[in-house]
Amino acid sequence: MPASYYDSEGNHIKECTKCKLVQPVEEYYRHTPTGSTDGLVQRCRHCVLAKFRDENARRNKKRKQRTHKLTKHQVAWIKEQKDVLSIRETARQFAKKFWAIKVNPSTVQRIFSGKIHAEGKDEETISVYDMLDAASQFSGSAEDYLDSTDIKKVKL
Ligand SMILES: [Zn+2]
Repeated sequence: MPASYYDSEGNHIKECTKCKLVQPVEEYYRHTPTGSTDGLVQRCRHCVLAKFRDENARRNKKRKQRTHKLTKHQVAWIKEQKDVLSIRETARQFAKKFWAIKVNPSTVQRIFSGKIHAEGKDEETISVYDMLDAASQFSGSAEDYLDSTDIKKVKL
């Protein structure tokens, strides 16, 4: 991590580790982490703020995913896979078909067995949100999520 330094003209400057621009130290927030020799954060203000905006946007996106409800069309598609695909494969194909939306294998299992989204019982969807909540908290890929899920441990 490059510390701040003075150039030949006496300007106190520092290189941002993100955008690589050499800027006056005023462009950096102050920070006193262990290992910092100049008391400044490694990224310039612009890059720090950009990172905050980025993380905010990502958090908001997650929040939206968390409240996502399975549409009738999606539920119907899952039901069509019963006796055609395995539970895992259904969840895997679902993530591909409905871009960026994940469905937990246990949700598929519950739909297959008629425990949720049974005909005329569309109101019983609270557990689906719990499943989607867990899925949206997972930071890895859909495949990783499926592999980390033990269906037998899910309370029915
Ligand atoms: Zn920068």
